[in-house]
Amino acid sequence: MENEVVSRNFIEQIIDKDIAEGHVKTVRTRFPPEPNGYLHIGHAKSILLNYGLAQQYGGQFNMRFDDTNPTKEKVEFVESIKEDIKWLGADWEDRLYFASDYFGQMYEAAVKLIKKDKAYVCDLSPEEIREYRGSLTEPGKESPYRNRSVEENLELFTAMRDGKYKDGEKVLRAKIDMASPNINMRDPIIYRVAHMTHHNTKDTWCIYPMYDFAHPIEDAIEGITHSICTLEFEDHRPLYDWVVRELEYENPPKQIEFAKLYLTNVVTGKRYIKKLVEEGIVDGWDDPRLVSIAALRRRGFTPESIKMFVELCGVSKSNSSVDYAMLEYCIREDLKLKRPRMMAVLDPIKLIIDNYPQGEVEYLDADNNLENEALGKRQIPFCRELYIEREDFMEEPPRKYFRLFPGNEVRLMHAYFVKCESFVKDESGKVIEVHCTYDPETKAGSGFTGRKVKGTIHWVPAPFAQQAEVRLYENIVDEELGVYNEDGSLNLNPNSLTVLKECYVEPALKEAQPYDSYQFVRQGFFCADARDSKPGQLVFNRIVSLKSSYKLPTQP
Ligand code: ATP
Ligand code: MG
Repeated sequence: MENEVVSRNFIEQIIDKDIAEGHVKTVRTRFPPEPNGYLHIGHAKSILLNYGLAQQYGGQFNMRFDDTNPTKEKVEFVESIKEDIKWLGADWEDRLYFASDYFGQMYEAAVKLIKKDKAYVCDLSPEEIREYRGSLTEPGKESPYRNRSVEENLELFTAMRDGKYKDGEKVLRAKIDMASPNINMRDPIIYRVAHMTHHNTKDTWCIYPMYDFAHPIEDAIEGITHSICTLEFEDHRPLYDWVVRELEYENPPKQIEFAKLYLTNVVTGKRYIKKLVEEGIVDGWDDPRLVSIAALRRRGFTPESIKMFVELCGVSKSNSSVDYAMLEYCIREDLKLKRPRMMAVLDPIKLIIDNYPQGEVEYLDADNNLENEALGKRQIPFCRELYIEREDFMEEPPRKYFRLFPGNEVRLMHAYFVKCESFVKDESGKVIEVHCTYDPETKAGSGFTGRKVKGTIHWVPAPFAQQAEVRLYENIVDEELGVYNEDGSLNLNPNSLTVLKECYVEPALKEAQPYDSYQFVRQGFFCADARDSKPGQLVFNRIVSLKSSYKLPTQP
């Protein structure tokens, strides 16, 4: 890369220091998703960051489902999340954990706090707790239950566990400081009663730990050294540190926050995506217009392109938003040399070479990728009837139009010069055939230098071409009008999907397998759809067009 970043990011600097000062020997990181939806491009950043650090320092990367909230979690999401992380190349080896596996230890930790007089059972209602909490400008008020004895608290907490209370009737709270300027420290709830079946522990528990209590315990149990999370948890760090300190863990994990990755004008929020899926506006969580990892994969993005993208974004402490065009830049860069360049006609019109013998076929050599010889060559059948792109012919061309028009000569890519002699229209006035003559002297690769033409167009041989469906995508929301309407709903772009049913691709693409991707010359990069495409019945997604005005930002 041109602007290689040589300076260490702030997280690396913290880790370097921890190692130098002897606090940490083996770096351990984790990715802790809640299994309540599909992962998106923002999560990819967190995954690759955590995994990358573990790799870089010869440490370990854990996969942990943070499944402490049974209301929203589903097994379906556990499976999709694992698949997405594997696809990205982050390897947790044999360290796949569930926070729910630690419910017993979390319960014991709560008992330990009670015994240290650092936690108490509180009978205030949720509304009262909110009221007593105070505000940013006013201190909170102590709960009348705050000074219960250790014995009474132990007894009540046991009764909570044993199902003696209804949801919301009692909670366990940390005893910290109701006057703290940080509201998170005003005796936060650490356990609540919830009579719910958990996807993993079923009906074993009717009390569940709160995130801020559970997370540091999970990290400490697994020996996580650097617990990397996003900025919104910065104000929770004092509580994180309080929990690990009061529970007296030997090697306390350290929480480090970084800024979330946001894409400009792109919908990433689970809430919105869920709605699009449920209302049938998109075709599932992996609809290629979304930026869930499953959607990006289906669209034809590669793990390498996503890795390049998150590396270009860098790690920062301040929120900012990145242009989708940068992601497109990365996939173009990744596929440019890797994938074959084939011819596909998306909006076909017949081209007939009147002086080419009827029934004759010749096979023309074509490089699969001129910039990468390793991809080899293929042969393309050439014959009298071809398809070309409708826009490559004009009856009355404007100035500087160098493609086909009556009397003009162009090169057919990998083949011959053809000169337009005439054309045929149907009753409605639509051009349906373009008639040409070819010059056998001008075969590509023959060294012909007799004369030059200004235009080169692509084509496919009509009798050998494979029909295909091509799906073109635009942003699901209207960027001009803004992503959100005044009422908070999404401003949908009615043209986000265009389906072209009658496209023709070269015969070499007949056997394209799901996820196979290609450059279609002059068009863009395309990928065989993983759900709907099969050999003989091809469906291609446009990953990205070829051209862009996008410029790589200069590194800070
Ligand atoms: P969302 O609300 O966008 O669905 P989340 O934070 O609720 O995301 P979690 O499953 O809790 O999703 O997140 C797992 C991890 O991914 C957390 O460590 C979280 O900080 C990180 N993460 C989530 N969104 C982003 C993002 N946009 N950029 C970077 N990291 C993110
Ligand atoms: Mg979350």
